Amino acid sequence: YKNYMKIEFDSKSQNEAFARVVVAAFASQLDPTIEEITDIKTAVSEAVTNAIIHGYEDNTGLVVVTCRINGNDLEIIIEDKGRGIDNVEQAREPLFTSKPQLERSGMGFTVMETFMDEVEVYSELEKGTTIRMVK
Ligand code: ATP
Ligand code: MG
Repeated sequence: YKNYMKIEFDSKSQNEAFARVVVAAFASQLDPTIEEITDIKTAVSEAVTNAIIHGYEDNTGLVVVTCRINGNDLEIIIEDKGRGIDNVEQAREPLFTSKPQLERSGMGFTVMETFMDEVEVYSELEKGTTIRMVK
């Protein structure tokens, strides 16, 4: 890879904007278009929000965001050590949410898939979730 960065922060909602801005700043060295930057920020925002509200729910834990530049691609990895996802395939379906009472629309994964070129989800119950995305 050509460049690498890693940040970690508490799973607090105010850190969602922080993560989105840091990744966008790191991505800027690839000379992205405004649209590409918006897509990256949107996808990061969805994955980090999921780590905070689903991964850790009412607890506080660490969210780790790693980025690598490979050629002209940006790889983004977002990890939590929270509760994990019991059925990843179902979780990725449009409109699936485990929290309809919180007015979630169940579109987070669909948004990530729409705005990024690759989205991989690795998750284990009670161990956590890792999202790997490439743009
Ligand atoms: P929205 O993102 O539209 O507000 P949502 O978060 O419920 O709603 P998705 O982001 O698509 O929808 O996620 C689908 C489901 O996958 C969630 O409802 C949750 O059950 C599960 N999930 C997603 N990310 C995580 C995570 N990091 N840890 C545990 N469960 C997760
Ligand atoms: Mg979501």
